[in-house]
Amino acid sequence: MNTDHNFIQSLLSEIEIDQDISDSRNGKIILIKVGGNALVDPQVKDHIIEQIVVLKSLGLIPVLVHGGGLDIEKLLNEVRVTSEFVGGHRKTDSRTISYIEMVLSGSLNKDFVKSFQKYHIDAVGISGKDAGMVKTIKRFHLNKANIKEDLGFVGDISAIDTRLIKLLLTNNFLPVISPISLGEDGETYNVNADMFAGHIAGALKADFYIALSNINGLMRDLNNPNSIMPKLKLSEVESLMGSVIQGGMIPKIDSCLIALKNGVSAVHIANGTNRCELLRILLTKEIPGTMILPNDK
Ligand code: ADP
Ligand code: MG
Repeated sequence: MNTDHNFIQSLLSEIEIDQDISDSRNGKIILIKVGGNALVDPQVKDHIIEQIVVLKSLGLIPVLVHGGGLDIEKLLNEVRVTSEFVGGHRKTDSRTISYIEMVLSGSLNKDFVKSFQKYHIDAVGISGKDAGMVKTIKRFHLNKANIKEDLGFVGDISAIDTRLIKLLLTNNFLPVISPISLGEDGETYNVNADMFAGHIAGALKADFYIALSNINGLMRDLNNPNSIMPKLKLSEVESLMGSVIQGGMIPKIDSCLIALKNGVSAVHIANGTNRCELLRILLTKEIPGTMILPNDK
């Protein structure tokens, strides 16, 4: 790969790489989800991109799914469109979805592609719409009174076809995927990026699904940063649903469960704003953040 060897060596020198672990990761599919919250600072974004370049140079196979929370917020503010979150999902009318698509499948997605090109990585920016990759049905939110609430153009995934991603991977392209997808009704739907990533990870039978946000992991007590839970089994996480898991963490954890139930070997919720977080998870003995494993591991 035609990337600057010195830059790769210099990043790797920042971590205590474990050669056996690193070797065992060769050829593994790593589904990385970067949330809008981890993309606020352009330097953080660049650093995540650098780490993905390093992973690719070491023979790992990254696939990137991105959200766009703050960029979406910025555009919606500019055009004076307001939206609210219900159960961690953004309520989305027809005007809102068109702006969300502009950001997620347009500016943000292509900006990633541009950044990878700097490292001579041929990234391909696509969305769930492309090649009919992801199909959705309208999502309803069951509120506390057990009444179904219409969230507009928010989709739940009903079908996935991974052929396009596999075609890209076979040809050494790096897929960069926006979660905007087509509904079974032919309309454009926004899918929560975590849910989208978990489903794709499962459908690809990825070896790792890593959700990078701006929090250090799953906390037992949201007000106590020292309450990060480092390692959990799928069943333990299920029992936490409805209590400590709130807001954006609801779809994030849902997505982890979907990935694990579909055969992903390990799931991590980690802080993308921490230096070398991805490299630490994949190449060292450290396990920053929260790792969730299937019940039999
Ligand atoms: P992203 O943009 O990365 O997907 P979200 O805002 O959707 O981020 O989800 C992460 C947020 O979930 C955190 O910033 C935090 O406020 C919230 N959250 C709710 N419950 C928890 C919990 N138990 N542990 C950690 N974060 C939690
Ligand atoms: Mg989120």
